[in-house]
Amino acid sequence: MRITVVRGDIIDQDVDAVVNAANSGLLGGGGVDGAILRAGGQAQLDARRALRDRIGSLSTGQAAATIAGDMRARWVIHVVGPVWTSTEDRGGLLGSCYREALRVADELGARTVAFPAVSAGVYGWPMRSAADIAVTTIRAIDAGVDEARFVLFSDGAYAEFSRALDRQDP
Ligand code: ADP
Repeated sequence: MRITVVRGDIIDQDVDAVVNAANSGLLGGGGVDGAILRAGGQAQLDARRALRDRIGSLSTGQAAATIAGDMRARWVIHVVGPVWTSTEDRGGLLGSCYREALRVADELGARTVAFPAVSAGVYGWPMRSAADIAVTTIRAIDAGVDEARFVLFSDGAYAEFSRALDRQDP
């Protein structure tokens, strides 16, 4: 599996699946979640409602897919990242988001998957730590996916993910 890092908007990626930093209610929110839902339109919203009817809510660290609707990608893989706190180490839950997303991508048969910096927005995770956990976790997985692409919205996020990737290159 190739791991790549680009600066850009996850909506614009020509990939089989995009990972969404969702909330447990699945019906949309701000940040990347709102952007993905707007881009996917009614078909994605209907699929999210059906998923919610089926599973109730999505737990932190878990992943579940819907169709993407009106996007270039075919699927959206929803994950719920942990909210950052300095009083408890929730890094395992953040790593689980990436692991579970790749497991679901494998099940779907997705060859290319785009990831945002899960938890590193409204949920407050420091970007440096978010990048280290994301890269370390994905590196350790032997997935059927050909490319895992981190798509970073800001120069700062791009710099941190690039650093994490370079640092751990063999
Ligand atoms: P969370 O609630 O998990 O923190 P957010 O959506 O608030 O999720 O933010 C996660 C990261 O995604 C942030 O670094 C934010 O800047 C970034 N982001 C927001 N919109 C997009 C987008 N359209 N494409 C890629 N990344 C985005």
